[in-house]
Amino acid sequence: MDLQNGKFYWPTTLLEVPSYPSLEEDIDCDVLIIGCGTSGAQCAYYLASSGANVVLVDKRRAGLGSTCTNTALIQYMGEKMFFELINSFGEMYAARHMHLCKQAIDEIENICKSLSLDSEFCRRDTLYYQSYEEDYEKIIKEFNLLKKHGFDVELIDEETIEKLYSFKKHSAIYSKNDAELNPYKFTIGLLEKCKSLGARIFENTEINGKKFEKDYAVFFTKSNHSIKAKHVIIAAGYECLEIKNEKNAALSSSYAIVTNQVEDFSCWHKRTLIWESARPYIYMRTTADNRIIIGGLDENITISQKRDSKLLHNKEKLIQEFNKLFPNINVYPEFYISAFYGGTHDGLPIIGIYEQLPNCYVLYGYGDNGTVYSMVLSKIISDLINNRPTDDIDLYLHSRPLLIKK
Ligand SMILES: Cc1cc2nc3c(=O)[nH]c(=O)nc-3n(C[C@H](O)[C@H](O)[C@H](O)COP(=O)(O)OP(=O)(O)OC[C@H]3O[C@@H](n4cnc5c(N)ncnc54)[C@H](O)[C@@H]3O)c2cc1C
Repeated sequence: MDLQNGKFYWPTTLLEVPSYPSLEEDIDCDVLIIGCGTSGAQCAYYLASSGANVVLVDKRRAGLGSTCTNTALIQYMGEKMFFELINSFGEMYAARHMHLCKQAIDEIENICKSLSLDSEFCRRDTLYYQSYEEDYEKIIKEFNLLKKHGFDVELIDEETIEKLYSFKKHSAIYSKNDAELNPYKFTIGLLEKCKSLGARIFENTEINGKKFEKDYAVFFTKSNHSIKAKHVIIAAGYECLEIKNEKNAALSSSYAIVTNQVEDFSCWHKRTLIWESARPYIYMRTTADNRIIIGGLDENITISQKRDSKLLHNKEKLIQEFNKLFPNINVYPEFYISAFYGGTHDGLPIIGIYEQLPNCYVLYGYGDNGTVYSMVLSKIISDLINNRPTDDIDLYLHSRPLLIKK
């Protein structure tokens, strides 16, 4: 899949990148993980930590799939609002999902602290502002539900917003303790940790065949080597859809830019993460080296040439959108990308456990909070592999019914 195009920022932040060999022999293992992006690395972290014999393979260099275009706002509120998830799944299930996401952010923080590579993890509050007059009711509804379920949020009014930022908005939900990180360093840091725990990692190793026996699976590489595994996790990002299509998942196109370095953030309260109630929405954050990442303009485009033909126009448009909020900050795009982006129709990520793929788990950590979702799903998958029962699988299993309403 032609995942993305443009001038990438994250790979420029890591000068000495470890390299891993390609697979040159037939091997076996407890768990084969296909994909050395964030999701594969998160799964490997749990499994290698529990003593499993883990092998990771990637057809590219590690971390150079969607991981390197991830803008990495680390949040628990997603594009499908809490009240919308409640409409689909019922209050108890939706609340459980939101709490799992919140816990996953704490987990990411703890893991980052344990890595030898600094992932630039930084706690940030989030401003979710009201884009249109008619969105006020939705903001109130969302705020009341978040409050009811114990999330640390405030409803702030026009006057307060104007004091904290250089723009005016009628209302906003201000939520505490989200985060940002560098997804490339996080992934490479995780992989190095897994390697130190005994995991074997192979880059430039493409999986292109498979066969299944009763208690194990054998996957084949393009260079005709085999990997025999008791369990297989397909963590191939949006390319999971090439291995197993999933009707609840859909691709679209998204755009993001990373600006020049900025000296003065005084009109940007606490350098919060910022997004809005409009759909599609514009979002922004800052980076450890004082740049600004601005993203959005999602469109229902699944042809890469068409997606990329809009990049020049959209990078200017993202700057214009930013200027509407922060006319005093002078920015231009130093890095810019167009990329495929995967979501699900019902708003929750998916673990696929299919009859046609015995002993396999397909990790579709799709959605705007992909990093957080993949943390949640990795934990559940590693619990299942380690025979630790978990009810949370019901929420994410591909066959979940809508309107569970428990
Ligand atoms: C523009 C954009 C902005 C985003 N912003 C955010 C955000 O702010 N916050 C957030 O949490 N998430 C965000 N996401 C989502 C986030 O990027 C993804 O959730 C995350 O990168 C997915 O990581 P992954 O490991 O699943 O996929 P990838 O990084 O794509 O890794 C999968 C790997 O599998 C490998 N692979 C595929 N097929 C094979 C095969 N047959 N054999 C061997 N290897 C294979 C690929 O080479 C790839 O390296 C954003 C995504 C995009 C596109």
